[in-house]
Amino acid sequence: MSRVYNFSAGPAAIPDPVLDRIRHDIPDWQGLGMSVMEISHRSKEFIAVAEQAEQDLRELLAVPDDYSVLFPQGGATLQFAMVPLNLSAEGQTVDYVQTGSWSKKAIAEASRFCKVNIAADSSDENFTYVPDEDGWRRSEDAAYLHICGNETIAGVEYPFIPDTGDTPLVSDMSSTILSRPLDVSRFGIIYAGAQKNIGPAGITLVIVRKDLLGKARSLTPSLLDYAVYDQSGSMSNTPPVFTWYVAGLVFEYLKDAGGLVAIAEVNERKAKKLYAAIDASSFYSNPVREDCRSWMNVPFVLSDAALDAKFLDEAAAAGLANLEGHRSVGGMRASIYNAMPEAGIDALIGFMQEFERSHA
Ligand code: PMP
Repeated sequence: MSRVYNFSAGPAAIPDPVLDRIRHDIPDWQGLGMSVMEISHRSKEFIAVAEQAEQDLRELLAVPDDYSVLFPQGGATLQFAMVPLNLSAEGQTVDYVQTGSWSKKAIAEASRFCKVNIAADSSDENFTYVPDEDGWRRSEDAAYLHICGNETIAGVEYPFIPDTGDTPLVSDMSSTILSRPLDVSRFGIIYAGAQKNIGPAGITLVIVRKDLLGKARSLTPSLLDYAVYDQSGSMSNTPPVFTWYVAGLVFEYLKDAGGLVAIAEVNERKAKKLYAAIDASSFYSNPVREDCRSWMNVPFVLSDAALDAKFLDEAAAAGLANLEGHRSVGGMRASIYNAMPEAGIDALIGFMQEFERSHA
């Protein structure tokens, strides 16, 4: 079978040139007669991979020097615990903004360690928008304020970076990282699981302002302490070498593609095209407030849900894979991360229009 257009929310599509490079490298990487999976993470060859990956990532996101770049395991979900354990004292208040399923999960985990104040919440309109910053009810003494920059399930993305003054801003950027330029200096911590815009699952990107290191609670396991990663180059134990290597190839690919300004231009065009096609039809709809619509995850429903299974079957037969919405909400979702070419969007729109013509 040839490659399909893969609309999976994550693990998600990886750029074809990166897959080609991996295929080429596997049997005999750098002339060593073995793959990158079979060498020590402490070898000079792997250390060079790790250093280059960090340097490229820093360049892509223009990460300021007073920030550390860490690569722990455990996905974004482990960050739901690492953030409170590293930034707050027992019993301290922390602020969270609840805009959907992933911020809810982050809140549930933080509630095990701190007093959570929900500073704003968009459940009143089924998580279809980001509440305006003016109305947020922030605590006086919060250790930090946490947001989910892009809610992967409902497709809601922040159209602004909150101004939290001296309170560190923490953002779960799992499904939006590297999709466009970002002013890192506005954040205390940015974290993202890898399996959307970075590479295979198994590694997590954490960008943390250095003054926030070294404050973990005393009982924090060392592998959950950001300072341990900072001091060891994220190698205090064996890291996921293959995933790290692929992430490095993706960073290199993004740089070669012109960096995040060029990537953002394509992403904006892709998203706008798809939303325009949905809005132009009375058969498909997306409920998200226009200024909060995600560039990366585009959920939509059919006017007749009885046609969902048929839509998915026919789409799959047309080479458009993994369009089923998250199991918690149903409907459809097209995740259109960096690796989705514009031709994939055109193919999806063409298919949707044809499906509407023959079934509406
Ligand atoms: N946050 C967001 C925004 C996500 O989309 C996901 C995964 N889809 C997670 C957290 C959880 O990530 P992981 O499975 O890497 O722990």
